[in-house]
Amino acid sequence: MVAEERIDGRFGAYGGSYVPETLVAALEALAVGAQAALADDAFLATFAAELSSWAGRPTPMTRMHRLGESMGVELWLKREDLAHTGAHKINNAIGQALLAKRMGARQVIAETGAGQHGVASAAACARLGLPCRVYMGAVDVERQAPNVQRMRLFGAEVVAVSGGDATLRAAIDEALRDWVSDPQASYYLLGSAVGPHPYPWLVRELQAVIGRESREQIMQQAGRLPDLVVACVGGGSNAIGMFHPFVGDQTVELVGVEAGGKGPGLGEHGASLCAGKPGVLHGTYSYLLQDADGQVQETHSVSAGLDYPAVGPEHAMLLDSGRARYLQASDAEALAALEDLCAMEGILPALESAHAIAAVRKLAVERPGAMVLVNCSGRGDKDLGILAAQSQAAAS
Ligand SMILES: *Cc1c(COP(=O)(O)O)cnc(C)c1O
Repeated sequence: MVAEERIDGRFGAYGGSYVPETLVAALEALAVGAQAALADDAFLATFAAELSSWAGRPTPMTRMHRLGESMGVELWLKREDLAHTGAHKINNAIGQALLAKRMGARQVIAETGAGQHGVASAAACARLGLPCRVYMGAVDVERQAPNVQRMRLFGAEVVAVSGGDATLRAAIDEALRDWVSDPQASYYLLGSAVGPHPYPWLVRELQAVIGRESREQIMQQAGRLPDLVVACVGGGSNAIGMFHPFVGDQTVELVGVEAGGKGPGLGEHGASLCAGKPGVLHGTYSYLLQDADGQVQETHSVSAGLDYPAVGPEHAMLLDSGRARYLQASDAEALAALEDLCAMEGILPALESAHAIAAVRKLAVERPGAMVLVNCSGRGDKDLGILAAQSQAAAS
């Protein structure tokens, strides 16, 4: 899978491992264990079998006839919304849970913001009989009650974190503290292509199934490679999983779409690559939203999954090298794109995924008639409460 590549956790100037001494040995053991697993045909076969028989892969590739025509492009959607638990996150969760088991971990620790990664982790751990503890900000526990209920049904212990901002950043700090206390017995299951080495590489390898399937499906169904491949970018895992198998195809333009939120002011969006500067957060060197003094900024997005002040280091490298480019879609543009996909294609996408669809309208102006492949990273059932609140606010 990764034979010729030197795996040192660096993506150009980015990546690396900036962690307290107490975590160095655990991360080194994880890097060794992960490389051995991903080079082991038996492990890869078990992973592939779980993806197909339990997680519902391969997910389909669907031509969007009506929406594509309305935009003036040939539009295809990769349907991660149809994966088990409703998003791409399950690919990474079951892959890492299998790795935890292989490495002899007695329990899994995870953190979650909106709860999607927590649900995927809890489901994967239930499947493999691993105890799972999920740290979640107290504010998020309140806001995301259905996901908390799902995690508990899957047997996970959900710990509400009331310190700090009581959201994702505080939950990550608390999960790391737990891991440091017993890094031998615990496996830390990180949810995106962020954090210290080996996570950005490991998560990309586990998510690259999205791009590999897509490449095969588009060749089969459309007869050629797409002109553009588009995905939303929060931490960057669905996008890097989609992009990676296309990086060598110079005719394929790669476009990541960040949360433009309410506007360009600091604190109003989550566009780390478009508006940030390089710095270190949660153990990795990458683009960050920070003020002039280097203080990490609050973020805003209508979609919880894009509401993070940093981004995976491989995207930082792809930005600097020019191999990929990154745009923003605002809250309003994402909501409009979500409504379009519902009305014209009968698909309710996650608000995160709707950002990628929204960007196609802008790209269609530059490249009329282009063949565009968009990763629909998840389904939008989880967002019905937010959608109801939005339409109420619009009506009043
Ligand atoms: C979590 C999530 C995202 C953002 O995470 P990435 O690591 O950037 O992929 C995007 N879409 C959905 C549906 C999500 O649940």
